[in-house]
Amino acid sequence: MQKLKILNTHYVSHNVKRFVLEKPTDFEYSPGQSAHISINLPGWEDQIRPFTFTSLQHWDTLEFIIKIYEDHKGVTAQMGKLNTGAELLLHDVYGSIKYKGPGIFIAGGTGITPFIAIFRALFESGNLRNIALLYSNKTKDDVILHDELTKLLGPAYKNVFTREGVIGFRERRIDRKFLIETIGNFDSRFYVCGPQNFTEEICEALISLGADPEYLIV
Ligand SMILES: Cc1cc2nc3c(=O)[nH]c(=O)nc-3n(C[C@H](O)[C@H](O)[C@H](O)COP(=O)(O)OP(=O)(O)OC[C@H]3O[C@@H](n4cnc5c(N)ncnc54)[C@H](O)[C@@H]3O)c2cc1C
Repeated sequence: MQKLKILNTHYVSHNVKRFVLEKPTDFEYSPGQSAHISINLPGWEDQIRPFTFTSLQHWDTLEFIIKIYEDHKGVTAQMGKLNTGAELLLHDVYGSIKYKGPGIFIAGGTGITPFIAIFRALFESGNLRNIALLYSNKTKDDVILHDELTKLLGPAYKNVFTREGVIGFRERRIDRKFLIETIGNFDSRFYVCGPQNFTEEICEALISLGADPEYLIV
């Protein structure tokens, strides 16, 4: 277990907070991986939750982007109160989504976090080609790192809003009909990350439309 001091923290949207943490020496992880984290405060040390690195291995610091659920009164609500100088405990690093080659990325809410790390790494190595992102949120205000995603992916980045009418954006769920209209050809690799029901529903629709289950990365 590693104690990590918070070097900087601020809100990137109304309920999502970025944490920049000190990085232990010889610490290794790769894009798409997550860590089990708790807060180094009495009573919170054993309340362990998973979060995904949005920083890259060679950076001097670690970064997490975390949605704060005030109403759960759990770990993230407590994280909402933490400031520079407070400490988190990193228990272990484990594999989540791994990049396996170009494809279509479909994210719901904070499910974008592993993709952020993957896109940043691909951008740095000059390999961010043949990548498209469908990013679903309730409203425009819930989108995380919109400017960076626009810069990285340009027209290959599409927002979908389930609750808000905004001119120029698509307002609907990513369902079977949406996938048929938007993708057309399902002979591709798909990466899907979001709430469990979101991921299940989309994977089921993709397979029913001809996607190869071997080419689904969740
Ligand atoms: C592999 C993985 C990677 C992840 N990476 C990230 C990431 O990078 N960023 C990120 O933001 N999130 C990420 N998550 C999600 C994140 O782990 C959860 O949001 C977090 O665990 C929530 O912790 P919490 O203690 O605040 O709330 P919870 O553990 O969800 O809830 C605490 C308590 O609140 C109550 N509760 C639960 N749901 C509700 C509700 N709807 N209303 C009221 N009360 C409720 C329950 O009693 C529960 O025991 C990831 C999840 C996984 C599995």
